[in-house]
Amino acid sequence: MADNDFSNTAFHQYLAEYKLMGAHCEACDTLYLPPRPMCPKCFGDDMNWVELPERGELIAFTTIHIAPTAMIEAGYGRDNPYISGVVRLENGLSISAQILGLDANKPEEIMIGTPVKAEYVERGEDEAKKTFLAFRAE
Ligand SMILES: [Zn+2]
Repeated sequence: MADNDFSNTAFHQYLAEYKLMGAHCEACDTLYLPPRPMCPKCFGDDMNWVELPERGELIAFTTIHIAPTAMIEAGYGRDNPYISGVVRLENGLSISAQILGLDANKPEEIMIGTPVKAEYVERGEDEAKKTFLAFRAE
């Protein structure tokens, strides 16, 4: 993978290595996730990949009953809803991902501020195998 490839494809290649990476603008010290090839703040393109903290807390969530295709294939849907959440990482960066380890059928029991840790979920077979980022409640 080229070091100057700040695409979502590159981000997913890192995920496949179980690494949570973001793009860091060296000029103005801003972190981006999803990564960006150019900094929208200072318009610089001196970006570097940096490893992000894998722990954070849940700051928002929603339960999904009408799942997109990839999630239906993973067994989710009307009868087996899942949780999509926004996690604030220890460095303050927010990221949205699936939340594991909480009951999507009991959203009233899910607490904002729940500590979570990144988990790398592999779905699909062989060539179609892809690694997805999720966070598990601790
Ligand atoms: Zn910048």
